[in-house]
Amino acid sequence: MKVDWLIVGAGFTGAVLAERIASQMGQKVLVVERRNHIGGNAYDYYNEHGVLVHKYGPHIFHTNSKKVWDYLSQFTEWRPYYHRVLASVDGKLVPVPFNLNSLYALFPPKYAERLEEKLICSYGFGVKVPILRMREAEDAELRFLAEYIYKNVFYGYTLKQWELKPEELDPSVTGRVPVYISRDDRYFQDTYQAMPKHGYTLMFNRMLFHKNIKVLLNTSYREIVTEIHFNRMIYTGPIDAYFDYMYGPLPYRSLQFKFVTLEEEWHQSVGTINYPNEYDFTRITEQKYLTGQRLPRTTLVVEYPQAYQPTNNHCEPYYPIPREDNRAIHALYEREVKKLRGTVLFAGRLADYKYYNMDQAVARALKLFEEEILTKER
Ligand code: FAD
Ligand code: UDP
Repeated sequence: MKVDWLIVGAGFTGAVLAERIASQMGQKVLVVERRNHIGGNAYDYYNEHGVLVHKYGPHIFHTNSKKVWDYLSQFTEWRPYYHRVLASVDGKLVPVPFNLNSLYALFPPKYAERLEEKLICSYGFGVKVPILRMREAEDAELRFLAEYIYKNVFYGYTLKQWELKPEELDPSVTGRVPVYISRDDRYFQDTYQAMPKHGYTLMFNRMLFHKNIKVLLNTSYREIVTEIHFNRMIYTGPIDAYFDYMYGPLPYRSLQFKFVTLEEEWHQSVGTINYPNEYDFTRITEQKYLTGQRLPRTTLVVEYPQAYQPTNNHCEPYYPIPREDNRAIHALYEREVKKLRGTVLFAGRLADYKYYNMDQAVARALKLFEEEILTKER
C-alpha cells in the first residue's frame, strides 16, 4: 500500500490532521488506530440499555476559539449544554468551582457576607482565583477560607486523582477549577459550550469519511510501518513509547470507569457530583445530562483513579502528570524528535505530554497543519 501520510491515532489530533490533509491538499492518508474504534478518548456509543455513554469518561465540549468551533461545526450540529458540578462537602452538595453560592451554602449568612465582601474587595467581582494563590492571601479570614476550600474541595480529590498533593503538581492543574467570585454555577465560562448533537463518534465518522482517507483499526502502527510506503508520518500516541522508553517511562495517571444503569429517569440533580472527601472514586457523572437523551432509565459513570502501567493492556495513559521533573524527561524525548528532521511530526495530548482539553487538541492540530504542513508543501 502506498500513501502520502501515515497518521498514528484516530483521536481529535489524528482525525483533524487526516481531514485537513485529505480535503485541503488532496493527499492520501492512512490512519492507523490501536483500539477498535475511532474518536480516541472522546469515543461514545449506545450501551445495551440504549443510553449514549462516553467509554473513556465524560467529555464536555467548551471553547473560546471561534476557529475551533467553526471547524468542528462542519461535521456536527450542536446541542447547547452548560455543565454543572456539585461537590460533597461537610454533608452538603455545593457548587464547584467554589463560588459565592458555595460560600453561602456552607457558612452562616453573616459570616458568609463578611467573607464575600473581603473576596470582592481583595480580588474583584467576577474574578477567578486559583486556590494555591488564595492560600497566600494577606487577610487572615481569607486565608482561613482558602485553607477550608483547599482541605475540603482540593486536597482529598487531588490525592485520589494524582496520588499527589495539589502543591506537588503544576499550579495550572488546580488552576483549572479556580475559586470563582461570582454567582455563576456553570463549570465553564467559555463562549461556546455544547455537545455534538448525535455524539462524538458520528462527528469523527464525518471527519474521516473522505475518499483520500483510509482507517485501519485494531492495529498498532508498529505492526504495519514496514509494510506501508508513506512519505511522512504523524504520531499522536505516547511519545515515550515511540522512542522505546529510552529515557525511561513518562508517568501518566489512569482511571477505571464503572458504568451503572438504573431504572429511574434521573438520579442526580446535576451532570456531575464530585466526592473530594469520601470513597475511592472522585466523581459520578450522569450521562443523559450531557447528551440530552430522553429515556426512562439512566446510566452513571463512576471514576476510580489508578496508576498507569504500560504493560497492562486494560490500562490507558489518560493524564500526563504536569510537573517540572516530568517536563525535563519530556524535553529529552523532544530532542530525539528534532533529530528526525520533520519526517515524523508529533502532536496531541500524549505526544506533546500536555494536559490538553479537546478544543486545545483541535487548535494544536489546525496550527500544525497550517504552519508545518500546508505552507511547507507549497
Ligand atoms: P487521544 O484521544 O488519546 O488519541 C490518541 C489515539 O492514539 C488513541 O486513540 C490511541 O489508541 C492511539 N494510539 C496510541 N498509540 C498507538 C499506536 N502505537 N498505534 C496506533 N494507535 C495508537 N477534554 C475536554 O475538552 N472536555 C472534557 O470534558 C474532557 N474530559 C476528559 C475526561 C477524561 C477521563 C480524559 C482522559 C480526558 C478528557 N478530556 C476532555 C481530554 C480529551 O480526551 C483530549 O483532549 C483528547 O482526547 C485529545 O485527543 P488526542 O487525539 O490528542 O489523544
Ligand atoms: N479538583 C479538585 N476538586 C474538585 C475538582 C477538581 O481537587 O472538586 C482538582 C483535581 O486536582 C483535578 C483538577 O482540579 O484533577 C482538574 O479538575 P478537572 O475537573 O478539570 O479535571 P478533568 O475533568 O480534566 O479530570
